[in-house]
Amino acid sequence: MDDFYAEGDLVAVLTTQPLDRPLDYRAPEGGCWQGGFVEVPLGPRRVLGVVWGPGQGDYDLSRIRAVHRVLDAVPMRAELRSFLARAGDYTLTPLSAMLRLATRAPGLGEAPSMRRIYRLGEGEPDRMTDARRRVLEVLRDMGGLALTLGELAETAGVTTSVVKGLTKSGAVREEDAPRDTPFPRLDPDYGGKDLTGDQQTAATALREGVASGRYGTTLLKGVTGSGKTEVYLEAVAECLAQGRQALVLLPEIALTSEFLTRVEARFGAKPAEWHSGVTVTERRRVWKMVSGGGAELVVGARSALFLPFRDLGLIVVDEEHDTSYKQEEGVLYNARDMAVLRASINGAQVVLASATPSLESWANADAGKYRRLDLTARFGEAVMPEMRALDMRAEDLPGNRWISPSLQAAVRLRLERGEQAMLFINRRGYAPVTVCRACGHQIGCSQCDARMVEHRFLQRLVCHQCGETIPKPSACPDCAAEDKLAAVGPGVERLAEEAQTLFPDARLSVLSSDLFGSARALKEAIETIAAGGADIIIGTQLVAKGHNFPLLTLVGVIDSDLGLQGSDLRAAERTFQLMRQVAGRAGRAEKRGTALMQTFQPEHPVIRAILSGDEEGFWKAEAGERMAAGMPPYGRLAGVILSSTEVQEVFDLGNAMARQDAPLRRIGAQVYGPAPAPIARVRGRHRARLLVKAPKGVALQPALAEWTAQFRLKGSLRLAIDIDPQSFF
Ligand code: ADP
Ligand code: ZN
Repeated sequence: MDDFYAEGDLVAVLTTQPLDRPLDYRAPEGGCWQGGFVEVPLGPRRVLGVVWGPGQGDYDLSRIRAVHRVLDAVPMRAELRSFLARAGDYTLTPLSAMLRLATRAPGLGEAPSMRRIYRLGEGEPDRMTDARRRVLEVLRDMGGLALTLGELAETAGVTTSVVKGLTKSGAVREEDAPRDTPFPRLDPDYGGKDLTGDQQTAATALREGVASGRYGTTLLKGVTGSGKTEVYLEAVAECLAQGRQALVLLPEIALTSEFLTRVEARFGAKPAEWHSGVTVTERRRVWKMVSGGGAELVVGARSALFLPFRDLGLIVVDEEHDTSYKQEEGVLYNARDMAVLRASINGAQVVLASATPSLESWANADAGKYRRLDLTARFGEAVMPEMRALDMRAEDLPGNRWISPSLQAAVRLRLERGEQAMLFINRRGYAPVTVCRACGHQIGCSQCDARMVEHRFLQRLVCHQCGETIPKPSACPDCAAEDKLAAVGPGVERLAEEAQTLFPDARLSVLSSDLFGSARALKEAIETIAAGGADIIIGTQLVAKGHNFPLLTLVGVIDSDLGLQGSDLRAAERTFQLMRQVAGRAGRAEKRGTALMQTFQPEHPVIRAILSGDEEGFWKAEAGERMAAGMPPYGRLAGVILSSTEVQEVFDLGNAMARQDAPLRRIGAQVYGPAPAPIARVRGRHRARLLVKAPKGVALQPALAEWTAQFRLKGSLRLAIDIDPQSFF
């Protein structure tokens, strides 16, 4: 039980303001609980805070002010406070910034707002009409549940005055109810499927884990379509049956609606949703219901990890290898790793589900830290697609064309059979480079050092780094030559253009995240495709995720070599995952699919591993290389990003940091850099990076803290530390 502080006691309050520690206040009239949400005076303002513990008493007692008021919210539980503190220590993030992550619900302290609702009353209407009868029927069908005036009138097909008229006689009751209502109860026994032997074994193991009430992490590995979702929903069912809450993290908002439908089929009602597409009022409702127990299951994006669950018993991280789990701005955290941390504090289970796990999770399972469960077969008749490389050196293809004759023939065959084909390219827009044929100038972003990408649908050039857009110029901005600007390289839009020329009668559907204004529009496009409303699907990364297209039997990967280039530590791993997933799209139903990968390096080890399907071989080889190099997960990395409007300041500080590295040398770590960041200027700020490499098992964070504390950040200089960087090189 948390401590209670009586009026006048000294309490330390953590606020969301950028201060380096909690501040002392006096408990207000009526006292306050540890963890309580409060409003405190800070200078001339009032700010949100949480009672973090007893006051420190090291401040002039006569100047200590009182807590202004205690907010109407369930106090933050010790578990969440400890999670924020430990996640902050791990990512070297100030506690105030961690608290901001946990309070992303506007108005969370306000008294619940009310709304008027209508339900069946005791009275008899003074006279009966058809319209009145319909209203009463609707309410009877609702079985005691209430509706708003608008909902009731619309469902009954009457005007609101008909409803109002019925309230006079008491036939309909009018009352005020809090707007933040609990979510419908989920029934763990509602729509379970008969599982296959493999699935049953995995589901039982997960259920036992949840029932144990102890912490544990399981890597649930299985090809797309093997039933991972069905299996982890069994773990959710067990968690609900235990009276604890569950959280399912998904990488793409676009996937959520498909998933919500599945939850409804399994548990009889929809869960709470938490992501950037959820309205402000709904966010507040979710936040409140999660803390009060009125939400049993939350489906959301990575930030859902910071919700104030009353008793979180299970966290599922679906597509655990997905890079979108790493937050790359503000607080730099990896939701997958933080899920494990939160679960370990709260005696909860974690399920990491993937067809192509990250090397980190693979290694943790290999070392026995995580349990590993494998689903080997696909559900039903579906089998893994046949996978072949198309050697582009042997294909006869004119410049500025990307679909090889062999791939064309394969697509044509599918069109004749009335099946679907998918062409995959991991580049948004029309063309990655716009170059002037007169002077060779490439159009770059004025705010960054990135090149502008042509988007023909928008008729604009867009910077994928900062979002800056300009209309496509007709003359070269450098030499002013007219009509000399040429698109170079392929993007998804250009590929669509080529496909339409090659297959003029085919119905094309282009799936690229920037072409859809809303998650709903995307969902509709996906449903149309699944129902056979398209012959050729052209897509980016978006299509690599778990959609189910039963008619799809061919996937053509336009440029399989894209991910193999560059010096990214994870390039091989990413390419491997992406290719396996894209290939996994083909032939989910009865028909065996084919995946064709266009490549100039068919003998490259990654391409060979994908084609041969020797996953364990790939992981072992990749793990061996990382181990030999002392790289993650067998060593540790931290990135330091310095930025300023003055390029000189950035490198002066970077060089000083590289020289004064004693705190790092003491733990056996090395510093590399400073080097210009891959994109050296973003939004007008110059950026340089240092890389710290340390052996596994040393206390890296304290050493980093001591090292960086030696330097003062003058002027517009900023320093950010990225523990376990995902994209660094
Ligand atoms: P994954 O998450 O591994 O991609 P899913 O759980 O989505 O796999 O399963 C793929 C498809 O097969 C889904 O439509 C799912 O409902 C169906 N399915 C899987 N297992 C079963 C089962 N035991 N009984 C009925 N349908 C199943
Ligand atoms: Zn830019």
